[in-house]
Amino acid sequence: MSHVDRRAFLARSAALAAVPAVAALAGAEPALADDALPDYAPIPPSALGPALNEQGYYVGRVERNLYWVTDGTYQAAFLTTRDGVVLFDAPPSIGHNLQRAIDEIASANGVSNRVTHIVYSHHHADHLGASSLFGRNVVRVGHTENKKLLVRDNDPTRPAPDLTFETRHTLRVGGERVELAWHGTNHTPDNIYIHFPDHDTLMLVDINLPGWAPFDTFNINEDVPGSIAAPGKAMAYPWKTFIGGHMGRLGTRGDMVVYQNYVNDLIDNIKKALVAVDPTPFFVKYGNNSWAAVKAYQDAQVQYASAPVIKKYLGVLAAVDVYTDSTTFLILESVRLDLGVGSQVHP
Ligand SMILES: [Zn+2]
Repeated sequence: MSHVDRRAFLARSAALAAVPAVAALAGAEPALADDALPDYAPIPPSALGPALNEQGYYVGRVERNLYWVTDGTYQAAFLTTRDGVVLFDAPPSIGHNLQRAIDEIASANGVSNRVTHIVYSHHHADHLGASSLFGRNVVRVGHTENKKLLVRDNDPTRPAPDLTFETRHTLRVGGERVELAWHGTNHTPDNIYIHFPDHDTLMLVDINLPGWAPFDTFNINEDVPGSIAAPGKAMAYPWKTFIGGHMGRLGTRGDMVVYQNYVNDLIDNIKKALVAVDPTPFFVKYGNNSWAAVKAYQDAQVQYASAPVIKKYLGVLAAVDVYTDSTTFLILESVRLDLGVGSQVHP
């Protein structure tokens, strides 16, 4: 691996919570034999975005003075204004490349490169951990719950927001307007909708990752029903371009429809699995080991529900064969526990 490839590899891998595995690879321990690792379907070209530069990032225009930056796995956005730059999220995997990307655009357009505001999509460190690079003289903006969570976490890389709001806030900087809104909990309790009405764009992070199946266990969404409802709320806004916070490209309304269909197909199949899979053989085999029986039973339900969905979306959503099982498991638990489907009252 070249120096740049290796750096990108490390950044990308570290970005995805695979830190212990990466530490092992980077150290002296022998790597796993290649044939011990599973093979997956190839990534459809439609899932991939523009090539990264030598520094490991890509910066591009979304519309007029709204730009996006990616390292291929994470995304941030920024708006240049006559009074400075408003940054949206600061993923540590992009890190110092955020200011490099801003400098590149600001010098090309003869505008200020000084970041004056950072809007936080939600409190997660993988989207905010480079916030402290911008110092103290920046106005940080987030939901009231975002402030509570960041005060709780007390992580110096993610200073709590200075400006908070409960349901809606219109952020006005240098003649530009951004509509921030909280429409209930979804991925996290503080995840907000960032609408750019003058740029035909919506940013909503960690819900739909355009072109890709959700990350492990349905993006580790804390509120599953809230997360399932979020794409509908996003679609109620007028926009052409979607910034999902992840992977290498921007999204369209068509991507949102594909994602909604994928989730709805999973829910339909989960409801069928809860009825169709017979628990008897699992409880017969494992006797008084209730957890072994429940695990085998639920594994069978997950397989029943996910297999047809994986088949349907292969070549449509990248890595659908990697994470659909774990996503199915979390949605199955929500269908069972939140919706009460398949629950039986003892006679
Ligand atoms: Zn998150």
